[in-house]
Amino acid sequence: MRTDLLNQDTIVALATPPGTGAIAVIRLSGQNVFELFSPLFSTEKGKFLDFGLINSHTIHLGYISDGTQQLDQVLVSVFKGPHSYTGQNTLEVSCHGSRYIQQQLLELFIRVGARLAEPGEFTLRAFLNKKMDLVQAEAVADLIASTTSTSHQNALLQMRGGFSSKLSVLRTNLVDFAALIELELDFSEEDVEFANRSDLRNLVEKIHKVILRLIDSFHLGNVIKNGIQVAIVGRPNAGKSTLLNQLLEEDRAIVSEIPGTTRDTIEDEVSIDGILFRFVDTAGIRTTADEIEQMGVIRTFEKINNSTIVIYLFDIHELTNTSLQQELDQLKTGLGEQSKLLVVGNKIDKEDLAYTKREFAAFADLLFISAKEGFNIEQLRKRLVQLFDEMTTNVSETVVTNVRHVQSLNNAASALERVIEALDNKKTGEWVAFELKDALHHLGLITGEVTGEEVLGSIFSKFCIGK
Ligand code: GDP
Repeated sequence: MRTDLLNQDTIVALATPPGTGAIAVIRLSGQNVFELFSPLFSTEKGKFLDFGLINSHTIHLGYISDGTQQLDQVLVSVFKGPHSYTGQNTLEVSCHGSRYIQQQLLELFIRVGARLAEPGEFTLRAFLNKKMDLVQAEAVADLIASTTSTSHQNALLQMRGGFSSKLSVLRTNLVDFAALIELELDFSEEDVEFANRSDLRNLVEKIHKVILRLIDSFHLGNVIKNGIQVAIVGRPNAGKSTLLNQLLEEDRAIVSEIPGTTRDTIEDEVSIDGILFRFVDTAGIRTTADEIEQMGVIRTFEKINNSTIVIYLFDIHELTNTSLQQELDQLKTGLGEQSKLLVVGNKIDKEDLAYTKREFAAFADLLFISAKEGFNIEQLRKRLVQLFDEMTTNVSETVVTNVRHVQSLNNAASALERVIEALDNKKTGEWVAFELKDALHHLGLITGEVTGEEVLGSIFSKFCIGK
């Protein structure tokens, strides 16, 4: 991909989803877009406009004609570079939303010299014209893809540059030191030290810590983007499938009277209060001779380990204080470090609530539900949201959600560890400078201060056309 050439010509694409709608928006961007467009457009009174002379951020009603016939009545929004999304002269043509009209207009624009945009090419131009950095550009893609309010909020925050500015400050501090060390190398015969080694070590340690925190936030970032995994575990027939169905409000899992019928794990997503939860129903935890079931049990333990929240569901008629304690002790050995446990007693519809509460009084925070009758399911939903809130309160406002970023952060962290090692072992300035440069390189890759064209290609190709 030749990014230098890509920035020049006029690109065009449908900005609204393909198909029929009330209106459709076609977007054009390029330095020559006004020259290209002006002859095609005339006002209600038949007057031609020179869009090059029209004020930016204005809207004009008129007709588009291909020279022989009028194609549509449209509204044209004018954005003059650099005050536009791409940083270039841009027009947005709102036309009537029939597929035929959209097609006719696109063909006309291509005929007069525009080129159909590649996926993400408008945003690529915004990046190339310094309207945004890479993190912000990627956030645009996340924003379009976001389906819940938390993922939306996070994408919005990144688009405004929260993450980038934090990294940028760190990087600038390091650049200063790197420059001092480079300077030393120029004076190598004189054995001078411009860069105070203990100051440098302190700074590197500080940055290393921040980077580790950012890497840690990826767990939460992932959760926000892809949903919080909630495993529902318990003995066969506790009512796990019934509960899953309640939570998903549809018949997704198989409910049956025969113990062990949920042989494998089933997953589905549900958004509660704008937070995405991904529920997995599991085969029951129990020893079994059946080979297929045994595999299910092993997978159950894997699911437990990977889940952010684990709901332990039990039949209140089946367990006593003592046996519940035993089951929980066993379960806790398989619980992941970050996992939260929620213990829920099921089938309360067949028992007196006050009596049951007294019976299990030894356990704080027990929740009693009837999966079948839907009793207290709302309460369970609230608890899930509460757990999510508790998990997120301690996290810094910057959350990493992107695998590419976390990879670069990991590489930067390793390079910084090597800088510390080099300093501690009194390695030469060249050595330190080399490792510092490596760390800077990886930090720069995230925001796009350092880029390879193939990196850009792979990022922007994931966008939809028209963005
Ligand atoms: P799983 O093996 O843990 O997935 O359990 P199922 O969801 O298949 O339920 C086992 C049996 O318990 C089914 O007959 C359900 O109808 C029944 N069941 C589930 N939840 C309740 C409940 O809240 N009350 C009553 N009375 N029965 C329930």
